[in-house]
Amino acid sequence: MSLFSPVELAPRDPILGLNEAFNADTRANKVNLGVGVYSDESGKVPLLRAVQAAEEARVAEHAARAYLPIDGLAPYDQAVQKLLFGADSTLLSSGRIITAQALGGTGALKLGADFLYRLTGKRTVAISNPSWENHRALFEAAGYDVVDYTYFDPATNGLNLSGMLADLEALAEGTVVILHACCHNPTGVDLSLADWAKVIDVVGRRQLVPFLDIAYQGFGENLEDDAVAVRLFAESGLPFLVASSFSKSFSLYGERVGALTMVTSSKEETAPVLSQLKRVIRTNYSNPPTHGAKVVAAVLTNPELYALWEDELAEMRDRIRDMRAALVQKLQAAGVEQDVSFIQRQRGMFSFSGLSKEQVARLADEFGIYAVGSGRICVAALNNSNIDAVAQAMAAVMK
Ligand code: PMP
Repeated sequence: MSLFSPVELAPRDPILGLNEAFNADTRANKVNLGVGVYSDESGKVPLLRAVQAAEEARVAEHAARAYLPIDGLAPYDQAVQKLLFGADSTLLSSGRIITAQALGGTGALKLGADFLYRLTGKRTVAISNPSWENHRALFEAAGYDVVDYTYFDPATNGLNLSGMLADLEALAEGTVVILHACCHNPTGVDLSLADWAKVIDVVGRRQLVPFLDIAYQGFGENLEDDAVAVRLFAESGLPFLVASSFSKSFSLYGERVGALTMVTSSKEETAPVLSQLKRVIRTNYSNPPTHGAKVVAAVLTNPELYALWEDELAEMRDRIRDMRAALVQKLQAAGVEQDVSFIQRQRGMFSFSGLSKEQVARLADEFGIYAVGSGRICVAALNNSNIDAVAQAMAAVMK
């Protein structure tokens, strides 16, 4: 037997598999609504002007490429904290927050998963039903038992809050709970301020371990409102973790820029926690890459570039909203009788369209329109050139 002969073929990643099918499709008017990437009106992933300006300045510096510290670039980590907690948060100077630059939001989740598993003995994690498909896979790979809690209500295409609270209430003490802070992936359904207060109450009483995932800050309402869950947890005084990402908000997908932030119960806990987090990082990839963090830190610490970035983020957010409104209107115009107004209420890049697996398969086979089998469509991939074809095709399979 050879070394690799016992290795079996892994199941295809559902979304990357979709890309392969899309790429192999020769129809000119094909549309990929599968991947979670924002495309602009011309159908391209944008390079933000604020990013370009920061990159030009960085290239002009001809800086040497030494290692970053294990926990990343300090000005970057500080800027992440300001964005999450608010520039005037008392937490910033409390000595209770630790932030480590991470390899995207995914890397931040993995660091948090490994840290909690190795250093606090956590073995079970609860994720929303449904959730970003990598949540389950990532935590399983880190050794956890993964359970889910009720989230989406197919009857209303909204949140099943009472189901969610009841499921959280029933979790064993010490269960890690992954909470999407805003722009829930895949449903686009978020909690209100009052809903969050109820969740925080259960999490605190049941002594669950809150782990917030914020990958779309700025894509819902704005940077401040989208951080409301993080801020409410901060006010609660509970210890918690946050995985954040700039992949989407800076359109820096391939640079892998994210962060893991941990809020401890007291400042005495901070030094041991940071020292152990550094060991998790050191024994994994040693230290993070420079470029993305330098660019993001340059934008976040320069008032002009920051203002430019906020404008560009608003442009992306507004374009997605326009596409949501247009899709609803065009579906209705194409004769769809079902109520599709929920598409306009959902937030962020995605909509859980309500399309069945069979309808999604028909969209691909008959129309060259590719969506995830769950019915998730990426609204951020719609534009004025493809939306009519998408609405017509969706209407055809929905009849
Ligand atoms: N969490 C959620 C909910 C996501 O949707 C994503 C990206 N699809 C991530 C985390 C990871 O983002 P990143 O590309 O920064 O690793």
